[in-house]
Amino acid sequence: MARHRAPLIAHHKDGSQCPPSHKHTTSGKPLHPDCPGRYLFESVCTCGTWKLSGGIKSYINDERKRHLATHRTADELPQGPAALRRLLRLDAS
Ligand SMILES: [Zn+2]
Ligand SMILES: [Zn+2]
Repeated sequence: MARHRAPLIAHHKDGSQCPPSHKHTTSGKPLHPDCPGRYLFESVCTCGTWKLSGGIKSYINDERKRHLATHRTADELPQGPAALRRLLRLDAS
């Protein structure tokens, strides 16, 4: 099963992307002279069925991790009934 990623992307108020080179203080103040500050945070999962945007980074980040966790759970499950039966047999012996 494919691994999905949902990078958290910050945008400036004018809609342009705030690149990782724009460092910020822990309170969110821009340290880069060209950075007007982060206005909107957006995360889009590579699975194509999930995306979220908003102004609160911690919220987007939490929801992002929660969504990615649903992919991880699916990845760790056996790939179908045959694999599941094999797993159960191994457990029983
Ligand atoms: Zn920036
Ligand atoms: Zn996803």
